Amino acid sequence: MLVNYQGKTRDVMTLAHELGHGVHQLLAAEQGHLLSDTPLTLAETASVFGEMLTFRALLAAETEPRRRRALLAAKVEDMLNTVVRQIAFYDFELRVHTLRRSGEITAERLGELWLEVQVESLGPTVRFDDGYRNYWSYIPHFLHSPFYVYAYAFGDCLVNSLYAAYTEAPEGFAAKYIEMLAAGGTKPHREVLAPFGLDATDPAFWQKGLAMVCSFIDALEAEDGAASKLSG
Ligand SMILES: [Zn+2]
Repeated sequence: MLVNYQGKTRDVMTLAHELGHGVHQLLAAEQGHLLSDTPLTLAETASVFGEMLTFRALLAAETEPRRRRALLAAKVEDMLNTVVRQIAFYDFELRVHTLRRSGEITAERLGELWLEVQVESLGPTVRFDDGYRNYWSYIPHFLHSPFYVYAYAFGDCLVNSLYAAYTEAPEGFAAKYIEMLAAGGTKPHREVLAPFGLDATDPAFWQKGLAMVCSFIDALEAEDGAASKLSG
């Protein structure tokens, strides 16, 4: 592994992320070249799980309220970008591809669809100016790998649910987790998640993942409340 490192929190998280990929690939190596590579749905499992463990350790060790807030705020923003924003991207693609069935779409109409989706995903507190209407064009996935964006949200929520399963029943989790990574690309997510009692076709599975995003937002608000009491 070769990474830049300047001692910033982000560098620590990136290191944890890439180490996750490294461990995943090392464990899956025994499957051989063709089967070690994971499907998109599981590609970010070990990396994001590693980030989550590292983030929790950093937060637990940090006592300075302003730094705790900064850590939590960055995590929440990351999660919203990975889950809410990517799903909005997916919605945009879905609308574009559906509309395209009935004819060519003008640049004007693409901009309208983009703004519609952005307004829906971010709500009334964020205002967009007209220049933002062409910003769909900065996402390379839309052209090069249509509907790829779902994998980010899928991966993040999958790991959140996995982490929730870990906190609910830590006993024996590590052995099952290592076995899952060692499976590489030999099994679909349904099969590798079954030993954890998780099922991605069950809405409750996703709820577990989203509940984790909510819990970080709650923690951030609690820190804010504590901090304003301190300064007040
Ligand atoms: Zn990655």
